[in-house]
Amino acid sequence: MPDTVYDVIIIGGGPAGLTAGLYTSRAKLKTLLLERMIMGGQVMTTTKVENYPGFPGGIDGPDLMMRFQEHCQEFGLEVTTGEAEGLVDNGDVKRLTVDGKELSARAVIITTGAEPSKLGVDGEDSFIGRGVSYCATCDGAFFRDVEVAIIGGGDTAAEEALFLTRFASKVYLIHRRDELRATKILQDRIEANDKIEVLWDTVIEKVNGDNTGMTSAALKNLKSGETRDLPLAGMFVAIGVTPKAHFLTKVLELDGDGYVLTDAECRTSMSGVFAAGDVRKKILKQIATAVGDGAVAAIMAEKYLDGFVE
Ligand code: NAP
Repeated sequence: MPDTVYDVIIIGGGPAGLTAGLYTSRAKLKTLLLERMIMGGQVMTTTKVENYPGFPGGIDGPDLMMRFQEHCQEFGLEVTTGEAEGLVDNGDVKRLTVDGKELSARAVIITTGAEPSKLGVDGEDSFIGRGVSYCATCDGAFFRDVEVAIIGGGDTAAEEALFLTRFASKVYLIHRRDELRATKILQDRIEANDKIEVLWDTVIEKVNGDNTGMTSAALKNLKSGETRDLPLAGMFVAIGVTPKAHFLTKVLELDGDGYVLTDAECRTSMSGVFAAGDVRKKILKQIATAVGDGAVAAIMAEKYLDGFVE
């Protein structure tokens, strides 16, 4: 049995978790924020954030997250590294298993976010780190003056395609449909960029390579049925994300895609446990909405601890 019982343990150090931590530590609740790897979450892999209010001209993702952390430090938020593996409801106290050890809190806020989804095609796993990447911001600079592809049609794929043109000689944007899901402003930038060629209605069937790494991708046009091999030095997969809620499968109600189900106040199916940000089932996943969620979850946790809500 651990000695310390925190008022609140927050699991995950992205925008939702850091906002929740700011609110609970400012409210003088004894809070611990647990982060598996690097503080800042998915925003750390974003080059420029242009749609978070208060930063005209945009701000680099890591810079923004550094400001979030500094802001939390002002209120003395306690932070530690560790991966949550289990959550048990002991009534007034929740027990968390973290790297084999036990932590206890009266309320828990889950802000574990999401991670990039895989295509699930042959060769993908074999060439991860040797051509296949899930983060252009992290790995793009390794692909200078070569031809690369980005897979997906959303905002991430569009932004990363534009980013990759700084390094690669040519960027293929490969999308399974004949229109992009990305916002109009990004679509216009894609169209205007000579280095980008969009391959519509096209999917990857296999990643090929040798001991030097990835060398090509086998493509199929879904409308014509035509198949071909496209020589590529690198392939960036940007087809959306999968929530990081595996450790909660038998503990909380999740939807079919693994997102934590909550009400509008971020309450999960377990009393005293809240979820905020991308791990929660919701319509819009943005930094602004993660921040909003984090604030709601923190205030609800405070009300729960004060006995005002169940
Ligand atoms: P997303 O919007 O879900 O887009 C995923 C894309 O991948 C879609 O075009 C989808 O095709 C395609 N796709 C999904 N599964 C696939 C598969 N198995 N094979 C091939 N293609 C597949 O994901 P996202 O772009 O990562 O964006 C996630 C959220 O973050 C969105 O809400 C987005 O607006 C937000 N975001 C915002 C910004 C920004 O505002 N600056 C930047 C990045 C992300 P279909 O279109 O055919 O479904």
